[in-house]
Parts: sequence; C-alpha cells; structure tokens
Amino acid sequence: MAYEDQSLLLKYDTLLFDLDDTLYPLSTGFSKECTNNIQEYMVQRLGIQESKVSQLNQELYKNYGTSMAGLKAIGYDFDNDEYHSFVHGRLPYEKLKPDHVLRSLLQSLPFRKVIFSNADKAHVAKTLSKLGLEDCFERIVCFETLNRTTSDHKIGSETLEIFESDNGQMLPKTPIVCKPFEDAFEQAFKLADIHPQRTIFFDDSIRNIQTGKQMGLRTVLVGKSNRISGADYVVESIHNMKEALPELWEANRSESETRKYTGNVSIETSVTA
Ligand SMILES: [Mg+2]
Repeated sequence: MAYEDQSLLLKYDTLLFDLDDTLYPLSTGFSKECTNNIQEYMVQRLGIQESKVSQLNQELYKNYGTSMAGLKAIGYDFDNDEYHSFVHGRLPYEKLKPDHVLRSLLQSLPFRKVIFSNADKAHVAKTLSKLGLEDCFERIVCFETLNRTTSDHKIGSETLEIFESDNGQMLPKTPIVCKPFEDAFEQAFKLADIHPQRTIFFDDSIRNIQTGKQMGLRTVLVGKSNRISGADYVVESIHNMKEALPELWEANRSESETRKYTGNVSIETSVTA
C-alpha cells in the first residue's frame, strides 16, 4: 500500500496555491480590513445604504466567490481597476512579514508552483513580495488573467443569464470569471498548462476546494481543523503542509535515490561488459 501511495504521489508535478488567507494566516487581520474597504466602497462609490452593506456583502461573497463578482451580477457598473485600488490599495501591507519557514518549505519541493487567486495582480505581487515569496512561483493566475476578455457591453448582456446557487436559489450570473466557478478553474488549467490529475490544490475556501475536487484536483483545505467533503487533506496552517503531506518530500527523496541506484547499476553493467 505504501508503495502504491508513493507511486501515486510521484505522478504529481504541480502545486496550485490560493493566496489570501492561504499563504498567510487569517490572524493578520487582512481579510477584515479588506471587508471594511469593500463595504466603504459600496457606500461611498455605489451609494448603497450603510445599514444594508454588511449583509449584502456577505450574501454576494457567499453566492459569487467575490463581492465584486456579486456586485456586477446584480447590476452595479464600476471600473475594475478603481475597485481594486480602493479595496486592496489601502491595505496595511506592512503587517505582512517575510515568511522564511514557508519560503524554505516551498523551495524544498521541486514541483511547479502556481498562484491561483481571484485578486488583482498588483495585490498578488505586493503580498508575495511582503511575504518574501515573490520568486517561489512559476506562474500567477489572477483577476486580470482570468478576465482578459471581459468588456463593458458583455457585462450588460450577461447579467440577464441566471444560475442555480448551492441552496437552490436562482440568481443572476456574474460576468466576472472567478473561483469557485468551474470556468475559472478551466481557464487556470489552460493558462498555466495544468493537468488537474497531476496537481495538488491549496485553498482556505471550502467552496473553492469542493469545485477543485470536482475538477479532478487533489485538494488541501488550509486554515481549518475539521475535515469536510471534497478536501483530501486539512491543515490549520500552510506551515503544516510537510506534516500533512510528507509523501511529497519522501517521493522526491526516493526519486533521487532511484536515480543514484540506477547510476550504480549502469556502472556495474559497464564494468561487467
Ligand atoms: Mg483565500
């Protein structure tokens, strides 16, 4: 069985990571600051009543994966870049510190590493740089890469389409491509040349993990302690990835041992011949 597990893990070649609340802990308070900024945007720029923004934001986030995707779905029209600079541009990035532990964990794994985030590229770049991880990833799939073809007139026409949410509600579709929707995963696979059956996916969102599982990925739920359906592994912190998945490191070691052994055999063969 151990041999089978190991051979299974040897077939993985890519690690796919969410960014926010996955590569740094929820305790940084970033998520809360981000929510405050979104609610402020809804009041100041979209004219939504202050007493309603908290509940509306929660519902949109739950149904659409991001507040922005939800706001666009229910008909609000605004500039994506302006929204991102308002919501992310004012975050206290100084709270994020270089994470040497995570950096060395990532560097000790010779798999392709790719970021898959709903956030804009400026936020992803700044966050990775503050964490000291900017050179750990081969590829970044983010808002701009997922939404290259989104245009304003397309937004107008797509809001007429509807979809069925997890709790059976019929809701207007969003023109934004983002997790947890399958089209975001399909695009990420295409853009970053990812084969889901050879990829392990890390995310703190249960819904993202569940879609990821349906799409064929091996899944690791980060920042939680309870097992949920759809998650192959659960880790309280990304720092625990080695305890949860020691096979990844063992697989590498046995691979290099195999190479060494094969080398000895070939020397012996040439001596014998
Ligand atoms: Mg996240």
